[in-house]
Amino acid sequence: MQELRINEQRLWDSLMQMGEIGATAKGGCNRLAGTDLDKQARDLFVSWCKEAGCDITVDKIGNIFARRPGKNNDLPAVGTGSHLDTQPTGGKFDGVFGVLSGVEVLRTLHEQNIETPTAMEFSVWTNEEGSRFQPAMQGSGTYVGRFDLATELDKTDVNGIRLGDELDRIGYLGEADMGSRHLGAFFETHIEQGPILEDEDKMIGVVRLGQGIRWYNIEVEGRPSHSGTTPMHLRKDAMLAASLIVAEIEAIALRHDNGLGTVGFMQVYPNSRNTIPGNIKFSGDLRNPVPEVLATMHEELLTFCDKVAEQKNLTINVDPFWYFAPVEFNASNDVKAAAEKLGYSHMDIYAGAGHDACYMADLVPTGMIFTPCLNGISHNEAEYSSPEQCAAGANVLLHTMLEASERIANEFKK
Ligand SMILES: [Zn+2]
Repeated sequence: MQELRINEQRLWDSLMQMGEIGATAKGGCNRLAGTDLDKQARDLFVSWCKEAGCDITVDKIGNIFARRPGKNNDLPAVGTGSHLDTQPTGGKFDGVFGVLSGVEVLRTLHEQNIETPTAMEFSVWTNEEGSRFQPAMQGSGTYVGRFDLATELDKTDVNGIRLGDELDRIGYLGEADMGSRHLGAFFETHIEQGPILEDEDKMIGVVRLGQGIRWYNIEVEGRPSHSGTTPMHLRKDAMLAASLIVAEIEAIALRHDNGLGTVGFMQVYPNSRNTIPGNIKFSGDLRNPVPEVLATMHEELLTFCDKVAEQKNLTINVDPFWYFAPVEFNASNDVKAAAEKLGYSHMDIYAGAGHDACYMADLVPTGMIFTPCLNGISHNEAEYSSPEQCAAGANVLLHTMLEASERIANEFKK
């Protein structure tokens, strides 16, 4: 088993073959959830898994599970999976690489006739991208119970077409209930979608944490007045207060390790050159992978806004309307052990974007394996990972799953 490796060329050929479904002129992919192209990609995945001896189950939100039996099929299985849908101008690797790494693991086990201690399951999650239907990570989020099934099936695209109807039309509205799989661990391989691994010259990222996010709507209410006749000390300038808060959001991010802060949206009223702005609405976005640190950043923002309101004698409303808690990947030690065993350079890293594995971590010990991508570019047709980088990720997935299967079987012996 130590010597076992996936087939680099076969993995690459499969990635390229899948990339032809929805291929764009610039070398990327446009394969939105629930479309005919999504069906073709799913059909190809299913045919590959059946060829390698799997049984297929589809659940009520279209998630696909291909199961390869093990020695003791009463034990919880080891799962892996990602998504086949893409952004409208997406690449060939985001999501697809995770799914096809699983297929390559499956083929390797199948051709070598290896009986694993537990069953293994290879999955495709519906609508991870959140492009045609919202929210993102819809299939996995519904599977783990974060979202209500009926509500999600009723979600419509810009043309008013229901997700449930599209799944039915393409033949992937299944029978299995949410949360139906008996899993003991879950792993997802994914391109990093950022520049860190490439910059640090590391082959594998052991993902320890998934970034937490806090979103705010901030409104400053001052007083609009003439910019030529109102002395500076008598103004209630909403722009000035907003500017101080924008600068503070950067300062908060810089004060904390791995902190990020962004203001990407602003509406100025009345938005006129010679009127002091009376009302400004803008967005705030704070991120950190450590729950306590994100909580501190949150408090600092609220305190600062109160201070500015008092000093500048105007009203500031802060609505912290969305919180996505940081995710801890409890099975990341299995990933690290596999990377070390295989001799790949590696580093601990956190996930800046959302992934299906972030939701699976609600249910079972979960781990993520990151591989580098060229210039850190993703959600872009130019997205690229080399055959060697893809093979490294799939090899780590193979040995991580073998390790986890062994561990689960041992735990149940006791
Ligand atoms: Zn993805």
